[in-house]
Order: sequence, then C-alpha cells, then structure tokens
Amino acid sequence: MYKDFRSDTVTQPTQDMRQAMLEAEVGDDILGEDPTVRKLETMSAAMFGKEAAMLTVSGTMANQIAIMALTQLGDEVIVGEDTHIYNLEVGALAALSCVQARPIASTQGQFAVNDVKKAIRPKGVQSPVSRVLCLENTYDLNRGYPLSPEYQAEMAGIARDHGMSVYLDGARIFNAAEALQVDLPQLAKHADALQFCLTKGLAAPFGSMLLGSKEFVEKAKWIKQRIGGGMRQAGHMAAAGIVALTTMRQRLREDHENALRLARGLAAVDERLVDVNLVKTNVVQINFEPAGKDAVSVTEALLKEHIKIKLIGPYACRMITHWGITPEDVDCAVAAIAKALK
Ligand SMILES: *Cc1c(COP(=O)(O)O)cnc(C)c1O
Repeated sequence: MYKDFRSDTVTQPTQDMRQAMLEAEVGDDILGEDPTVRKLETMSAAMFGKEAAMLTVSGTMANQIAIMALTQLGDEVIVGEDTHIYNLEVGALAALSCVQARPIASTQGQFAVNDVKKAIRPKGVQSPVSRVLCLENTYDLNRGYPLSPEYQAEMAGIARDHGMSVYLDGARIFNAAEALQVDLPQLAKHADALQFCLTKGLAAPFGSMLLGSKEFVEKAKWIKQRIGGGMRQAGHMAAAGIVALTTMRQRLREDHENALRLARGLAAVDERLVDVNLVKTNVVQINFEPAGKDAVSVTEALLKEHIKIKLIGPYACRMITHWGITPEDVDCAVAAIAKALK
C-alpha cells in the first residue's frame, strides 16, 4: 500500500458511502425525477444559503457551465494566474465559452485592489466586456490559501461597481471554512454562483455542486444538458455526496493538523524546504533546491519507500493531507524525505 500524498482526490469512498450508493433511491434525473439527487441539491443550497443547486460530474464541468451561463461571446473574465479554471481546464474558457481570460497575479492568494481595477476594461467600441471576476477559495491548488469573507466582499464590491458578476470556484471551500472558522454562507454570500467539489477533502468518488439563484441554476441545467452532462439514475452518485457532506466535514481539521505536522517536520529536517507560515489548510509545498536536490530524484527515492508526492516543478513538489493519511504516515514521509536528501 502506498502512502499517497499527491492529492486529496485519491481518497477512497468510505464504507458508509459505498452502502449509501448501493441502497440509493433513484430515478431519471434528466426528467427531474431522481429523489436522491434532489435531496443533495436541496441540502447543498441550504448549506451555503443559496436558492438552488445542481449536481455536475466534475468541478471542471461546474466551472465551465458557470462561465457559459454568465458570459457572452468575446467577453473577458478576470482570473487568478494560479487558478484551476485558467491553468487546468484545457483552455475551456476559450474553447467552450469563447471568452478571453485576463489573468492577474496574487500575493498569498489575494489580488491587489489596483490590479483588479486596472484589469477591468473601460467601455468602448474596441474593448471586450469585462464580465466576470473569478475567485478561487482555497486559492492555488499547490498552496491552498483560504480567503476571508472580508477579502471576498472587497473583491465583489469592485466587480459590482463595474457591473460584473462574481464566480467562486470553491473546490476546497470546506477547507477554507475550517481554517478560518467561518460559516459557509459567509463565504458564499458575495458570489453570484459557486461550485464546490465532493471529491476533494470530502472523499466522495464523484461530483461537484454548482450553486446560485434559481434563475442561474435553471440556465445552468440547460447548458449541462447541451454539453452532455445530463445523467439518468445519478442518485447512486448523489448518495455518496450526501454522506460526504454529512460525515466528512468535521474531520478536515485533522488534515490541517497533519499538514502542519508535515511542514514542521520538514522544517526540522531543513528549514529551507518549506515556509511553515504559508501552510493554512491541507497543502504543503516543498522546495528541494536549497538542499541541492531536484524534485524528480526525491520523488523517485520516495516511491521506493512506497510514498507518492506530486511533482510541480524542477525543484518543487506538493503534498496534500487527507482522509487516507494518518499522523504516522506524515512522520514516515518526513523520515523518508530526510533520508532522500542525505
Ligand atoms: C479539483 C479542482 C477543480 C476541478 O474539479 P474536477 O472534479 O477535478 O474537475 C476545480 N478547481 C479547483 C481549485 C480544484 O482544485
């Protein structure tokens, strides 16, 4: 058995999820007749204080449906340069929505107010329309920075002043809520629409939820159908999601504690490997360059010890803690990395 730190997406479904999938009451969801999907959607919307929700196959699909729903041909969407929607969705903003991305830099996940203001186009016959401001929380899947409701409110204020919509990619929003100790509606309040993943820290085998107003979700359902995302007896999928939402949130604290344990352990080996202060949720980024090692050689050495970590650059790796990782696994990984650096 490998200790797999590459991502929280490698999590196996719990026994309760497997049982719930088996026993789920289902129907044809395209006809709106799956009671388990309805239940998951109602539950999700209520949790975040939104009017409506829709199950999608993936976070990528939810993100792209949202942008299709909120934009028109040739619009511009402002995105963080380290975000999933900009880097890891196969150019879908251009390919599916025919919009142009305007990436901006961040400092520990936060855009500077002036950078956002500068990125918003003046109206003019030659200008694309700045239509959507995309936030991501936690920000940067190789860092996992939680963004506060106050910061999100400030960003949304700027967008609103310019007639723009706000979309929130909350793939790991439960980690943000846990780290900041804030309620989910606080984090959702300033977004017109948001998605969260059931498949990250919550460990469900599939699915994301796209949330917003009734009108938005109605449009989103129609777009989902257009791109072949309509499902039939999807209640078997939704059943695992319900278990994920009801049983897996409380334990995210353990993942954050394990991430800190990992970062501190690595810093004790060599303080140049990690910046412990930047570890806020379940993500630890490691830089092997000061220790005179490249990331490929360390990754290969760890593999021999049955430990998997994710390569993110010539000298950088990422490790994520999750339901399948115990404090003992963390200590084991720290010892293996120390050995690999000798
Ligand atoms: C994982 C992730 C997604 C996409 O989710 P999939 O279900 O893998 O398509 C989107 N945004 C962020 C920030 C993610 O981490």
